[in-house]
Amino acid sequence: MTDQTANTATSTPVVSNFIRSRIDEDIANKTFCDAITTRFPPEPNGFLHFGHAKSICLNFGLAKDYAAQCPQSHCNLRFDDTNPTKEETKYVDAIREDVAWLGFDTRGQEFYASDYFGRLYHCAEQLIRAGLAYVDSQDSETLRATRGTLTEPGTPSPYRNRSIDENLDLFQRMRAGEFPDGAHILRAKIDMASPNLNLRDPAIYRIRHAHHHRTGDSWCIYPMYDFAHCVSDAIEGISHSLCTLEFADHRPLYDWFLEQLAKLGEFKRPLPQQIEFSRLNLTYVVLSKRKLIQLVSGGHVDGWNDPRLPTLKGARRRGFTPQGFKLFADRIGISKSDSLIDYHVLEDCMREDLNERAERRVAVLNPIQLILSNFPENHTEPCFAPNHPHHEELGKRELPLTRTLWIEREDFMIEPTKGFFRLTPGKEVRLRYGYIIKCTGYDTNESGEITCVYAEYDPTTKSGTPGSEARKVKGNIHWLSCAHSVPAEIRLYDRLFKTPNPGGRQAGDAPEQTRDFLDDLNPNAKHVQIGMLEPALAQCAREACYQFERIGYFVADQFDHKAGQPVFNRTVTLRDTWSKN
Ligand code: ATP
Ligand code: MG
Repeated sequence: MTDQTANTATSTPVVSNFIRSRIDEDIANKTFCDAITTRFPPEPNGFLHFGHAKSICLNFGLAKDYAAQCPQSHCNLRFDDTNPTKEETKYVDAIREDVAWLGFDTRGQEFYASDYFGRLYHCAEQLIRAGLAYVDSQDSETLRATRGTLTEPGTPSPYRNRSIDENLDLFQRMRAGEFPDGAHILRAKIDMASPNLNLRDPAIYRIRHAHHHRTGDSWCIYPMYDFAHCVSDAIEGISHSLCTLEFADHRPLYDWFLEQLAKLGEFKRPLPQQIEFSRLNLTYVVLSKRKLIQLVSGGHVDGWNDPRLPTLKGARRRGFTPQGFKLFADRIGISKSDSLIDYHVLEDCMREDLNERAERRVAVLNPIQLILSNFPENHTEPCFAPNHPHHEELGKRELPLTRTLWIEREDFMIEPTKGFFRLTPGKEVRLRYGYIIKCTGYDTNESGEITCVYAEYDPTTKSGTPGSEARKVKGNIHWLSCAHSVPAEIRLYDRLFKTPNPGGRQAGDAPEQTRDFLDDLNPNAKHVQIGMLEPALAQCAREACYQFERIGYFVADQFDHKAGQPVFNRTVTLRDTWSKN
């Protein structure tokens, strides 16, 4: 089925979790009545990956679900673009596309932390005026050295007690571009002896003479993440700011900034609250922008949208579906402790979704000729195959049967192994949707390779005709008429890494041994071959997905597939075959 919006029977009921319980409490207490407001805040410094899909499904999903109770609920797509040296417009465009592809509603709006640079600057000045922030002029090495450790307090800066006027003057001159990078920073004045290192007078602003992809050269000072994030949340009226567990230690700082700014009259209560959940960790992939960049720039994959990559661009090209990701997000749920999810859970979600939505077609991927020697020459017998076994309404299509057919090479064996019920000399199988045939012989070439198989068909056994099922045969194989099939490029994709924990320790490793995740790449993750298809498949639209019967789910390549020159990618096999490899 090419219609990506078609209903799927795979949606799961809402399961509560600790975030929903918090929101339910906030609604019960009337802390928030009209709106539950979340945000998805990617930094535009790379492409989105499967981990981001979890966060997108969570944030947009909550806003959507709570709209029933609190009608103004929504989720903001916010670009957290406060680090000009790493961020680029091409990433903004890609992220926007990915969120839209996942099917979430951004209400046609986009938010940018850089739109708040003026307001952030003003808030910083307010903190200075309140004696809650100061300009420090120590170099970065000294700043690091005076921060203290987990067991020892930090050392207060000699500049900590600068006057408010001096601080304001210096900060304004920082903004005016009077100083080089690193000459000064603005710090919050909190507690150099706090057991939480994040509260030891953290940096709020730094000097960076860098061109920003949106604000150009208007600014030469940029806010730090911890300051920009909570203030952006407050500006947008976010009610629940969901982030991954590693930010738990930053929460007291998040609360400190907003509390002070609320006291100064900058923001009204209720203030946004940060809630942490565990990030997605998945076996057989890497989910870190840094490692993904290495894979692309090192030429280990063919670009950011390589179907082997765990990027959303790669997933789309692989044929993974937005509905499959939502099912996956529901299934893995939300928790507060780190966990590692098996890759097959994701694959199963894709299978489950595709099983529902993908029409069935026939493809022969490793063709060998089968000649029905008692079938009339030049005769074409129409056979009919349902487009979907669970959806009769999708109708049937004609599969023409002729004397010369393609079958899968692996469906024939001269000497069958135990449990092989397909074609073998002297034995019978059913041609799916057609007749029972009996194998009468085969040809081989000089090197002993089978070049052609012969069989006779039984004209009384056509599928769907009365009495056709009287004689039972165990094997049932798919086929295509040679005269009615077209060749296609078939790209068989498999897992990118051959080990569940790429770069991690493995049994038998010496204690001092370290591994490089690149050493664990699966060299067989991509295999390209020519297969044969039903002719209609050569005309289908790009990104149309199908189940190739008995083989797996395939998608017409998003870029390379053309009418008459089909290119199909294997999304996933019908069953989990990995354990057998
Ligand atoms: P990476 O670790 O790949 O560099 P990041 O956290 O730096 O990712 P951001 O662009 O800052 O990437 O992330 C945007 C949002 O996506 C954040 O709210 C972050 O918590 C969330 N996110 C990122 N990675 C994961 C993950 N593996 N699981 C769940 N959420 C994630
Ligand atoms: Mg980040």
